Amino acid sequence: MKTGISYFGVRNPRHVKKDLEEIKQNNITFVVHTFSENDKEYYLDTMKEIVNLTQEMGLEVYIDPWGVARIFGGEAYSKFIAMNDDARQVTKEGKKGYGACMNNPLTEKFIGEWLEAARYIGADYIFWDEPHFSPFTNKEGCFCDICRDIYKRERGGDLLKAGSEELRWMRGYTKLNFLKKMIRKAHEMGMKNALCVLPYDRDVDWEKLAGIPELDVFGTDPYWFMLKGDFEEETRNFAKKVAELSKKYGKEGQIWIQGFRVKKGEEWKVRRVAEIAYEEGIRNLASWSFRGTEYMSYIRSENPELVWKTLGEVYGELLEKDGNP
Ligand SMILES: [Zn+2]
Repeated sequence: MKTGISYFGVRNPRHVKKDLEEIKQNNITFVVHTFSENDKEYYLDTMKEIVNLTQEMGLEVYIDPWGVARIFGGEAYSKFIAMNDDARQVTKEGKKGYGACMNNPLTEKFIGEWLEAARYIGADYIFWDEPHFSPFTNKEGCFCDICRDIYKRERGGDLLKAGSEELRWMRGYTKLNFLKKMIRKAHEMGMKNALCVLPYDRDVDWEKLAGIPELDVFGTDPYWFMLKGDFEEETRNFAKKVAELSKKYGKEGQIWIQGFRVKKGEEWKVRRVAEIAYEEGIRNLASWSFRGTEYMSYIRSENPELVWKTLGEVYGELLEKDGNP
């Protein structure tokens, strides 16, 4: 049984150390450290120190490309897209979008450099979080020349004239190829890989994602604020699906628990998600983020203290139940 928490925003090892002690006390076994472009450029050795501190305490470390190239989830800007106009996604109308194109070799090279940095700071796992096309500018996908050429080669038509099902195919093809390459690269560099797919992302058949050979952990983040159906039922469906696919492809299944924007009176859901996932066979749980995300005003919970306490309690109970107290 593994229990995780994400951590960000503090880059002073003196303070991080205190927080890590609190994390350890809250029945947590691994930390997902965000590693943005800003961190890579300005806090590289500080991050190495933070990762070392984490591992010295017996906690595993996941490194998250937080908002990197605006392809992955995260509240962080991208210098890469600001400086590399040629690598940016292009809208149907021919305008530059808010994110890098996953088919562009410049993007691939940049993520490769980010991986080198992640290895340098000591990542155990790379946490590929919510890979997506920009919801602001490129919901339908990317229409740059590279993408249009690929589509023509693979499907024999003009991407600009493609219907919604064909556009979905193209987004899926793009994501799958990109992730396969990056995951293989991280694996060859000696790191493990965890992938978290947005719950309603159907660009790629989840079978194909879970089946990526060098992937170690497959999961999703069914945060209740975005669920389209009944909380319990939808949570169970996602946990079941992840558990089934993970078993089929020999991966570790992972379910994320909402630990941000938790409304007052909703804290019990933190416990319920963990319990439901456990019942469905999930043995890798994680929550976003440390202390109910109390220190990020944009997404903080209304009663972060209680979110944190609830998480620690259910983690402790499940660890014990699973035989590793
Ligand atoms: Zn493109």
